[in-house]
Amino acid sequence: MAAHDPVEQKYVYDFAEGNKDLKDLLGGKGANLAEMTNLGLPVPPGFTITTEACKAYLTTGREPDGLAAQIEAHLESLEREMGRRLGDPDDPLLVSVRSGAKFSMPGMMETVLNVGLNDRSVVGLSNQAGGNDRFAWDSYRRLIQMFGKTVCEVPGEEFEHALDEIKRAKGTHNDLDLDADDLRGLVDAYKQIFAKHTGREFPQEPREQLDLAIRAVFDSWNAERAILYRRQERIPADLGTAVNVVTMVFGNLGPDSGTGVAFTRDPGSGAQGIYGDYLANAQGEDVVAGIRNTVPLQELEQLDKTSYDELLGIMARLEEHYKDLCDIEFTIERGKLWMLQTRVGKRTAAAAFVIAGQLVDEGLIDLDEALHRVNGAQLAQLMFPRFQLDHEFEPVAKGIGASPGAASGKVVFTSARAVELAAEGESVILVRRETNPDDLNGMIAAKGILTSRGGKTSHAAVVARGMGKTCVSGADELEVNVPAKKFTVGDHVVNEGDVVSIDGTTGKVYLGEVPVMPSEVVQYFEGELDPENTDDALVRSVHRIMTHADAARRLRVRTNADTGADAARARRFGAEGIGLCRTEHMFLGDRRELVERLILASGEQEREDALAALLPLQRADFIEIFREMDGLPVTVRLIDPPLHEFLPPLEQLAVNVAVAQERGEDVAKEEALLAAVRRMHEENPMLGLRGVRLGLVIPGLFAMQVRAIAEAAVAVVRDGGKACPEIMVPLVGAVQELETVRAEAERIIAEVVGDSGVEVLIGTMIEVPRAALTAGQIAEAAEFFSFGTNDLTQMGWGFSRDDVEGAFFWRYLELGIFGISPFESIDTDGVGRLVRIAAEEGRAARPGLKLGVCGEHGGDPDSVHFFHEVGLDYVSCSPFRVPVARLEAGRASITTTGSDSR
Ligand code: ADP
Ligand code: MG
Ligand code: MG
Repeated sequence: MAAHDPVEQKYVYDFAEGNKDLKDLLGGKGANLAEMTNLGLPVPPGFTITTEACKAYLTTGREPDGLAAQIEAHLESLEREMGRRLGDPDDPLLVSVRSGAKFSMPGMMETVLNVGLNDRSVVGLSNQAGGNDRFAWDSYRRLIQMFGKTVCEVPGEEFEHALDEIKRAKGTHNDLDLDADDLRGLVDAYKQIFAKHTGREFPQEPREQLDLAIRAVFDSWNAERAILYRRQERIPADLGTAVNVVTMVFGNLGPDSGTGVAFTRDPGSGAQGIYGDYLANAQGEDVVAGIRNTVPLQELEQLDKTSYDELLGIMARLEEHYKDLCDIEFTIERGKLWMLQTRVGKRTAAAAFVIAGQLVDEGLIDLDEALHRVNGAQLAQLMFPRFQLDHEFEPVAKGIGASPGAASGKVVFTSARAVELAAEGESVILVRRETNPDDLNGMIAAKGILTSRGGKTSHAAVVARGMGKTCVSGADELEVNVPAKKFTVGDHVVNEGDVVSIDGTTGKVYLGEVPVMPSEVVQYFEGELDPENTDDALVRSVHRIMTHADAARRLRVRTNADTGADAARARRFGAEGIGLCRTEHMFLGDRRELVERLILASGEQEREDALAALLPLQRADFIEIFREMDGLPVTVRLIDPPLHEFLPPLEQLAVNVAVAQERGEDVAKEEALLAAVRRMHEENPMLGLRGVRLGLVIPGLFAMQVRAIAEAAVAVVRDGGKACPEIMVPLVGAVQELETVRAEAERIIAEVVGDSGVEVLIGTMIEVPRAALTAGQIAEAAEFFSFGTNDLTQMGWGFSRDDVEGAFFWRYLELGIFGISPFESIDTDGVGRLVRIAAEEGRAARPGLKLGVCGEHGGDPDSVHFFHEVGLDYVSCSPFRVPVARLEAGRASITTTGSDSR
């Protein structure tokens, strides 16, 4: 025992010993049960076995020393407190054994209720319940079912079938129509199923039941579906789960008992009110599994006003205490309310913004905390389009809007089919009566999820919200027939492969494909919706939080834009300049011909002519962009890709030549092109003649671009505008490369700019590892650095993006070599270290050196935090990511004591 042996680790905590900040040790459920206990709320007594015990068990394969004795001691004290012994034949104490990890993983792990029941104590339980045999045998059959499935891997369907069988024999669909004798018979049937699958009798010894259940909860941490869920949600694999042993209270004692779940605000929209589901005469898992149709929580007021009022009081108290939306699970045992769980509730993206705004209004949190509580991924989700509905589209059914968004796709009825069709590039809607954890793969693959049963808190709803996936649940007009691969609704029959559309906000279901419209958040960013003057709570809240983020952030946010239209949109979205204007698109389309002329030029004159023809076209492009970005910096990257990318593919040319020869046409030009393509072929174009190397070997190419930029700037300034060009040289690895380009560029700029007042900066990309490592030297010739993190990642890891993502990334992710693709989120340890070194050494050599990043990572939330921390001046990302980067840059700048937002 801990008291006698000071070095022994404490593995078991009474609820009175814990608190909400001990999630690492007690898991979320245990920590919050402790918190509620200490708030004086009615929580059934119990204790929590720590995640440390679980981790020790999982690494060694056996319970750590001392655990058994600590459990024994806590069980004894629980028995003393309750005045009953576990499984006592006359008056049994029963407990639930519940998993609970640091982060909630809904339905992923195991819970066993009614532990302590056996052939003898079932009689005692009945007597204690005033001779309520039905209740006692219902509880017992649930124990065998859950214990069998969870602890001994008996297939769950076998129990379901036995239950269906009895109901059919009775001619009913409702569990409640089964009487005590039916349930006694069901217990016998369940025991046989148990014995058939395990080769042993159902264990009658209460303590053995308890120990096996605890072990099963430990093991459930590594169940396949739990592993899959963690990967999807980016939850670390080594946290382990705690185990909560909780005195049972009974919602299945009769019509004055029941169980429910509730949210303190609407987790879909954030609206204030009472949101929940209640089920009379039932045990908890019935509600969560969506097995029976629940009633809205409001109806509890009629059924049991005292408990209802008490519940509302507790919900208000919890919100004030946690200063956030809470979700709760409760049970009423003969008019007595018990709290079984609470946590800061998951919510949709829209609700996150709306609630954060409301809590500021209510004085519960400040704006920094509000900013902390939302994130860029949620904002990105709100920028998706929604259904455009007019009279042509009548819904065929209405369920519960369980997770917002608009999704259309082909109907499928199984997880496997969803995965199959999605792999073929189809959009699919997974339709089920209800989902369970085994449907996870299909849910990931589907565009949307539609179920005919279950409320806002069903498995489908909770998991879909977590994934940000559109979901309509509980559309009970649907008759789903999985084996026949169809569902019927009214007079319609919908078969596998037919298209339906579901609206996860309104819960409406449509046949066929419904067109979509832009989100109001995008309209707000576009300036089409006045945030001061709208009754749209979401837009008001987004505006308020964005304004705060802009005031808080140190990082500037620019955009990647190659055209005037992109530049204009990005500016409306808040871009403070262009961080990457690629010039290669200016060589495409009908300009290809000029590039061909350049490549085929046989002498200096021909080459100069080709360049001279390109110059005015480029200049016009730049003028447009500088105008749109009036007064803001525009970083123009000189041409980067290998020139052969602008030529037709080899096979096509070869065919053209052959066909033309056949017809006796003049093939001189085609042949010349073909020869050029052959000559310029590269084994590794990514590492070949591109970027600054082109500028150094093709005379006049960079000079033409520099001249076009400078002339465009002068033209804009002459028109009364302000152009702030920054010329960026790609792929530099050595300072000498940059010096050579720079010398020529400066000469041209001086000549063009004259006394116009235009200032042109010259800088470089840092995207080759050598550049990062010699940044101190390179900074001598650069007025700014822009980190090209795509190439830096490719060259840092030594793999080419196009080749690796399909070939082996899945395996790397599976093995945990990285938790997320390094192209999606910057690899801070490796590639990030190169950025850090270059930033430090560059600034040391040239104080005031401007530092930015362009490339996909500039709009990735985690990466933005990293770039903030490294001290860059700006990030640059695609126009639609600009608001996300603004928000995350703001979040990176604030420090709060707030809780983990996951
Ligand atoms: P999950 O993490 O999947 O929600 P829980 O451990 O919360 O699993 O258990 C599921 C349900 O079982 C709870 O919502 C609750 O209704 C019921 N339950 C758990 N423990 C008890 C208990 N001690 N008494 C009565 N019902 C319980
Ligand atoms: Mg629960
Ligand atoms: Mg690059």
